[in-house]
Amino acid sequence: MASLQDKVAVVTGGSRGIGRGIALEMAKRGATVVVNYHQSASAADEVVAAITAMGGKALAVQADVSTEEGANTLLKTANDTYGRIDILVNNAGTTRDNVIMLMGADDFDTVIDTNLRSAWLCSKAAVRLMMRKRYGRIVNITSISGIMGNGGQTNYSASKAGLIGLTKALAREVGSRSITVNAVAPGFVQTDLTSNLPEEMLKKLNENIPLGRWASIEDVAYAAAFLASDEAGCITGHVLVVDGGMAM
Ligand code: NAP
Repeated sequence: MASLQDKVAVVTGGSRGIGRGIALEMAKRGATVVVNYHQSASAADEVVAAITAMGGKALAVQADVSTEEGANTLLKTANDTYGRIDILVNNAGTTRDNVIMLMGADDFDTVIDTNLRSAWLCSKAAVRLMMRKRYGRIVNITSISGIMGNGGQTNYSASKAGLIGLTKALAREVGSRSITVNAVAPGFVQTDLTSNLPEEMLKKLNENIPLGRWASIEDVAYAAAFLASDEAGCITGHVLVVDGGMAM
């Protein structure tokens, strides 16, 4: 198991779902975790309590990371509290699915701002600090929707494809400072985000997964923890797909 002992990790959207799983997995491996949330204060407190109960250190920080003020406040609070940031996981995300004819421009903007703008803003704030330390790990949670495209998700697929471009461009920019930038692309994972998919669609999806199952939250967390570790120090600009073989 790749150790994250003595590392400080910031996980955006760490209050629920995949972000919660990543926060817990990183804490298990020894990282101090800053658990960002937007609206779910009690859920974020529960994640902090779980980490503390296992002997780790964690802090919940409220911030809307789609705004410049929110992203800067989050990274500044983390750095002021723990003195550095080694790992940033850009996980916060949302959906507003609809066919393009029925999708409002506000639904497009919300998804782009939450999924893509947030990652750019948080990365910008983190890179400034990581450059000085000449060390950093940025892990962006994209999706196979950004690789394959998904009908009814023109906004979401665009945001996740954009995140892959961001990952590769930033990896080239900051590589000389020993900062790596990678992405994890989950397939379908059981969380609040996927709780309302129609039964018929679920059946069809499962038929196209060679391993015959969805990725678990833990499957995604293991991939993120590995890319955040010292062992992954020569991997950058990579998109690690965790989808049971669905997108190949
Ligand atoms: P989720 O259960 O709905 O959780 C979303 C998280 O994002 C929550 O912690 C939420 O915080 C946070 N968030 C949303 N908007 C935010 C904002 N403006 N500022 C700060 N935090 C914000 O979703 P999930 O399924 O775990 O998804 C996590 C990531 O994985 C997303 O980027 C998603 O696109 C990606 N992903 C998910 C799947 C899947 O099948 N579930 C597949 C591929 C990729 P609050 O609750 O505090 O508001």
